[in-house]
Amino acid sequence: MTAPYYKKISCFLAVIMLLVSSPDVYSATISIINGDGAGEGFNDTTPAVPVPGNSGITLGQQRLNVFKVAADYWGNLLSSSVEIQVEASMDPLFCDATSAILGAAGPNHGEADFPNAPRSNTIYPVALANSLAGQDLEPASADIGATFNSSIDNNNSCLSNHNWWYGVGGITPSNATSLYDTVLHELAHGLGFLTFVDSNGLKFFGLDDHFMQFLVDDASGNSWVTMTNAERYASSRNGSLVWWGSNVVNSSSILASGKTLMGHVKLFAPSPYQPGSSVSHWDTSLIPDELMEPFATLTSSDTLTKAAFKDMGWVIGSSPPSGNVILTPVYHLLLSGYPEIQPFVQVNDSVKLDEWKYYQVLLSETATHINVNLFNLTDDADLYIRGGSVPTFTENDCASFFGGTISENCINVSTGGERVWYIGVHGYMAADFTLFVTQSPP
Ligand SMILES: [Zn+2]
Repeated sequence: MTAPYYKKISCFLAVIMLLVSSPDVYSATISIINGDGAGEGFNDTTPAVPVPGNSGITLGQQRLNVFKVAADYWGNLLSSSVEIQVEASMDPLFCDATSAILGAAGPNHGEADFPNAPRSNTIYPVALANSLAGQDLEPASADIGATFNSSIDNNNSCLSNHNWWYGVGGITPSNATSLYDTVLHELAHGLGFLTFVDSNGLKFFGLDDHFMQFLVDDASGNSWVTMTNAERYASSRNGSLVWWGSNVVNSSSILASGKTLMGHVKLFAPSPYQPGSSVSHWDTSLIPDELMEPFATLTSSDTLTKAAFKDMGWVIGSSPPSGNVILTPVYHLLLSGYPEIQPFVQVNDSVKLDEWKYYQVLLSETATHINVNLFNLTDDADLYIRGGSVPTFTENDCASFFGGTISENCINVSTGGERVWYIGVHGYMAADFTLFVTQSPP
């Protein structure tokens, strides 16, 4: 007697589930809570001229518009029945003539052993935990905190008058940084693209986190979950850190560089460790560039970030929302458009007769001296280096210009506290070369 009744119910449920899993309904509401005071940040009343994709007529309006569009980008891709709240502000952060902290964001809470948790004794960022649990586990507070640097606007002594660009979906001018792309990047951290493991390899409250489950040292084959603190410490600095997750592996065919033969994509694990950048980003060797790399790239996609989100348990649409997203991100520390090289990683390149080739390198905060070697020369090329600016024949912190194929070296040059250095190789003749930059202490 009761069977038909239950059948009807189950039929009804099946219809609902079909609707819920249809590809058109991926969405989450990501709302922005304005954390700024009167007249500053998002409330800055300085008049502004509308730019493509942003009709705001004050600085504050344009900033808030960018945040809302970036929040909608992720909101249209991810699926969650629980609203994701982002408490955001724009405040003065570090900035000097050549480098700046652009912004930072992260989850406000980590949650473990909540209803429907995929794995016990494991910390999930609250937005993902809420989505998996189907309820707001922290109803009293926002899920993500985000702060961006307001000093970048209208300030000649900050980045030499390089400003935020508040347009959306277009090309960013060369003298500006896209806030939209930067917010997309930072929100991805807040949604879970980060580990809670610290720079010493210690787990947060002694628990695994969701992100580290996918981290494997490709040299040893060991997972971060089973490693000792000392092994995680070493793995975060040895350049062998990769992501093991089926969705990322399946998407890794887009890469020409930055993955293993098995399709495991590399994460950023240089030596020395770079606080705020190491481990919680894709490696800078990825070609084409990805949204979640730690430093400036001219173009990037979020294909692998979306795949990593799927590996983590986010329900996510396979195609981007309508609208043409052109990403030109620059994050955390602003660098010029020159190729970035890592300390302790050799670069092979060539230079033409009378040509300059420039590179930039970001030293760690503790570096007091920089060493640069130019060798394996096939003909006469010369070396010029300078802290904070591009070197010239006359303006540099070290120049080395021997004849023929003699190696050029700038050794033990004091950084004077400058972290961003520019390396210039000048072709006195056309030549192939190898460039090697180190810092001390390492
Ligand atoms: Zn980042």
